[in-house]
Amino acid sequence: TSVDAVPNPTSQVDQMLAYVYEQTRPITHGVLADYIPELSKVPADSFGIAVATTKGKLHKVGDADVEFTIQSTSKALTYCMALELVGRKEVLSRAGVEPSGDPFNAIEFSPETRRPFNPMVNAGAIAISGLLRDILGEQKAFDLVLDRFSRAAGRQLSLNESVYRSEAATGHRNRAIGHLLLSVGAMTEPVEPVLDLYFKQCSVMVTATDLARIGATIANLGVNPVTNEQVFDIDAVRDTQSVMFTCGMYDYSGGWAYEVGIPAKSGVGGGILGVVNRQIGIGTYSPRLDSNGNSVRGVASYRMMSDSLGLHSFDLT
Ligand code: GLN
Repeated sequence: TSVDAVPNPTSQVDQMLAYVYEQTRPITHGVLADYIPELSKVPADSFGIAVATTKGKLHKVGDADVEFTIQSTSKALTYCMALELVGRKEVLSRAGVEPSGDPFNAIEFSPETRRPFNPMVNAGAIAISGLLRDILGEQKAFDLVLDRFSRAAGRQLSLNESVYRSEAATGHRNRAIGHLLLSVGAMTEPVEPVLDLYFKQCSVMVTATDLARIGATIANLGVNPVTNEQVFDIDAVRDTQSVMFTCGMYDYSGGWAYEVGIPAKSGVGGGILGVVNRQIGIGTYSPRLDSNGNSVRGVASYRMMSDSLGLHSFDLT
């Protein structure tokens, strides 16, 4: 059952969250994503952190209930779905699992496999959306994706129509990637409905609390700790965390694994989803981004949380 997030001054986690929040809130550098006007119009100073445990407990501070678009964080969740629906072999035939060292929107495939490097960059994520479209059907694919994201979060999520329309109207680079995927055989025709699915999945509205709940569902072997529903397949959750760990933070993925040590996925909407296997999910939201496209306060607060709660995967204690 869900325990409500009234901060408890005697709770260690609430004290830590309050401290991290106060320490990282003064950081105001970084810039909003501005490749579409909708993203540059959000209040720049919003900042929220949420932590959800695999026992169903929620801790939060600041603007943890402000909605923003999930953007690239959706890539981890669609990857998890694809693994469950068709298995590893088929998924690996569409996108690999190697960090690319290239920006997320790079037009670049592995020279050996002629496939996108991994499913956390746009090319790989679009290939995975193509797979979902093939399996789920053009009509139903997005509804099923939205339903799955919603069940992972434990509440009905919705599409931000204006972000979706702008993504679709301006996403020519992603369209080019789609056609290249077609040319190498990593996608099937027609291309446009696949991009439509991709633009929609990026435009789902979430809060830091939703990301924490989704993270807790992944951490809890795919079972939403609040609803007790098996939302994601247990084997798919393992593979998804592996790819988040190695590729989830754009070109800072190596540094992140070294310093923070938590499987995570960020999005240019300003969110970062983190998963501490078997323990907690974390969500942060602050829309000012660094040069890699990661939330500046998000990265700073994860570093502090990892240190103070001992969350690094290779911590000794
Ligand atoms: N919709 C964005 C794009 O594909 C998502 C990018 C992101 O969050 N990195 O360009």
